[in-house]
Amino acid sequence: MISGRLLSLSPYKTETTPARIKLSSNELSIEFPEEVKKRIAQEVSKIPFNRYPDPSASLLKEAIAQRLGIDEKNILLGNGSDELIYYLSIAVGEFDRGIFYPVPTFSMYGISAQVIGRERVEVSLEEDFDIDLPNSLRAIEERSPALAYFAYPNNPTGNCFSEHKIRKIREKGLFIVIDEAYYNYSGKTFIEEALQREDTVVLRTLSKIGMAGLRVGFMVAKEEIIRELNKIRLPFNITYPSQVIARLMLTEFYDLIEEEIKKVIRERERLYREMSSMEGIRVYPSSANFILFKSLSMPASLLHKKLVEKGVLIRDFSYLVPQCLRVSIGKKEENDAFLEALYKCMI
Ligand SMILES: *Cc1c(COP(=O)(O)O)cnc(C)c1O
Repeated sequence: MISGRLLSLSPYKTETTPARIKLSSNELSIEFPEEVKKRIAQEVSKIPFNRYPDPSASLLKEAIAQRLGIDEKNILLGNGSDELIYYLSIAVGEFDRGIFYPVPTFSMYGISAQVIGRERVEVSLEEDFDIDLPNSLRAIEERSPALAYFAYPNNPTGNCFSEHKIRKIREKGLFIVIDEAYYNYSGKTFIEEALQREDTVVLRTLSKIGMAGLRVGFMVAKEEIIRELNKIRLPFNITYPSQVIARLMLTEFYDLIEEEIKKVIRERERLYREMSSMEGIRVYPSSANFILFKSLSMPASLLHKKLVEKGVLIRDFSYLVPQCLRVSIGKKEENDAFLEALYKCMI
């Protein structure tokens, strides 16, 4: 028999509608040059895939550690940071204590809690999408959750929460997870605290910087915490091809990625300016590689549909944030096509 816990659960939602221009999943829109692909093909062809891969993916871990300037002992790899969210929800605190997160936010925090059967302590963000501290502290006082998730910057709102509010919540004795999936677009991090404290870890991923298909995420934490979480990690959770390709990208071709990240940040500012001057929408500032905006003159679902008809796919988030949609920042041409399509929908 399937557990009752799952009956009320809905699976992770994603956009699968085919479209000419896909700005719906916060991926990095990058076409790697032929020489890169050839080099990858060469390395991939050497993989003895009849064998299990290195269970600790040590070469990939080394490449990540070097990029961050930290020790490999402070890193745990996951099949995407999604897997690490599951591990944290299983490993931190007892199951009779809940999991806190401000909403709206990334859906995996709630899904992992529900799957395991832990209470979800959700507190709505303020009007400006920052943490509502009084209500959060009250909920924590009343329901004593053991673990808190903060997407930093938050998805889908795009802002970074006030650091002092996160720390105030931690002071209540919660173990905090700072999910920095969009770190490369915000430049803000809790890594120093994660390396020093027993109650703070940071999650990162390669998904938003050009490698979503490889499924590589990682956690940065004190060695003691990594050692404990490693006990529940599924063996061989990073596939052989992913270990090889991700390592190659981080060591030999990272310049290409960095250049693209810079372009996305510039494009984000341009898109924000252009969208701010449009009638019929309200735009929210972003520290990530996407922009959230509100449709003022028609239902968000209708605007979404009209954009799809013009070949542009974005994400309708009105089920989570009233009237809001989220557009990922793509290449200049893609953003131009989006702006033009949006403009046409408005007139
Ligand atoms: C995209 C995203 C992730 C998922 O990353 P994967 O490494 O692809 O599993 C995690 N957290 C947030 C906030 C995200 O937006």
